[in-house]
Amino acid sequence: MTLDGKVGLFFVIDGRIKLHTCPLAEAEIGERFRNYPESHDAVWQRKYANKYHVDYDYFPRGRIVYNNTAKLYTLYYDSCATKEATELVAQYPNGKCIMERDEHYQCAKCNKDYII
Ligand SMILES: [Zn+2]
Repeated sequence: MTLDGKVGLFFVIDGRIKLHTCPLAEAEIGERFRNYPESHDAVWQRKYANKYHVDYDYFPRGRIVYNNTAKLYTLYYDSCATKEATELVAQYPNGKCIMERDEHYQCAKCNKDYII
């Protein structure tokens, strides 16, 4: 399986990757990046909220965007989802997807101030 040509976002729930992607042609076009059109919150509400009864930022999460200028993907991820992030990067051609930690993506475990 390849993810080349796709952007998306993901959650890691109990060690399983829940990935949502769309083709670049359907991505939201920003100044620098093409982005999956939905927010984590929106996807969470639609697909998982009823099942897990926690907020969208409870589990580790991340996002894969496409840099229009560099013609490269960047995968932003929560530091405790390094293993899963690495697995996703491996589904892009060699060197086409860069992994980057993002402080913005913190789950309940990583965020000391998290209130359930
Ligand atoms: Zn975390």
